[in-house]
Amino acid sequence: MIDYAPYAVSDATSRGRVIVEPRPKARSEFQRDRDRIVHSTAFRRLEYKTQVFVNHEGDLFRTRLTHSIEVAQIARTVARALNLNDDLTEAVALAHDLGHTPFGHAGQDALNACMKAQGGFEHNLQSLRTVDRLEERYGAFDGLNLMYETREGILKHCSPKRARELGELGERFLKDKRPSLEAQICNLADEVAYNNHDVDDGLRSGLISVEQLEEVSLFARHIAGVRRDFPEIAGRRMISETIRRMIDVQVTDLLAESARGIAEANVNTLDDVHQSPPLIGFSAPMAEENRALKTFLRNNLYHHYEVLRMTNKARRVVTDLFGAFMAEIRLLPLQYQRMADVDKARAIADYIAGMTDRYAIREHRRLFAVGEI
Ligand code: MG
Repeated sequence: MIDYAPYAVSDATSRGRVIVEPRPKARSEFQRDRDRIVHSTAFRRLEYKTQVFVNHEGDLFRTRLTHSIEVAQIARTVARALNLNDDLTEAVALAHDLGHTPFGHAGQDALNACMKAQGGFEHNLQSLRTVDRLEERYGAFDGLNLMYETREGILKHCSPKRARELGELGERFLKDKRPSLEAQICNLADEVAYNNHDVDDGLRSGLISVEQLEEVSLFARHIAGVRRDFPEIAGRRMISETIRRMIDVQVTDLLAESARGIAEANVNTLDDVHQSPPLIGFSAPMAEENRALKTFLRNNLYHHYEVLRMTNKARRVVTDLFGAFMAEIRLLPLQYQRMADVDKARAIADYIAGMTDRYAIREHRRLFAVGEI
């Protein structure tokens, strides 16, 4: 057994699984969780779900799958360096986006609007619903029956109303407590991963330029360093070397600042972690640079007119599908028709949320294109 820090999550101190199972023979409980996530249907679908660019726009852009793997890589590095439970960290990182709709945030916003009267749709809650209920792989239970701390890490945010419905898992949102350090790491690793890979994909797509990015101090500083060290460098190699350095400096800052925070807060147990303010984070100057980068990406990439044209179409696809199924429930596959007996709108949302980009486009064509069967 690995000797984690005393405030790390461990098999011994875990709150365990909802349905008690025999201990795994050659793995830790959290390794088993990670493996269950990797084998799930929802995980494989991530390959064909949009991060920013729709899957068929190019073979080299990030998808939700490669994004999740990059998050897991960064998160695992941080967890291991801080002597925390890297198996739990990896499990949470790989599962964090399982509930995402097709077409990224545009899909989620559209489905949320469709579900307004039924309490809305939130991808983060849907990730939990996927591992708790929707996966159908085991004889003895629905979902993946994951460890409490893995589920806690997946549930990043939650309204008070929803928190009350979730019982034990929702408690921390009502009592203002923090999740494990492992879960906190995944949040930050998510940011480090997407800010940097969106710079990379944004440049690759041609929607943003190196000149524009030089307004952003984090990028400007590192591309200047790269040009100094390699005067002949150009093109993709220059960009990759710059982004590599940006990730490195952010992870290094995160590690130093978090180690300092943990030492200063004098945490000795997992319970101390729950009671303390968030302990995983950037230094103030790095947090500021990170914010500036995010603002740049929002204004110049996520709101670029070519991205907005795509997201507008995506919203239309999701909204049309939802409307068609609500009007005629018998258009749903049988498995979802059975779920619709209990909660019609929620069953439709589950079906749509599970679709990959291309499946949603095909389904839209099947339902709406005249002349197609
Ligand atoms: Mg993510």
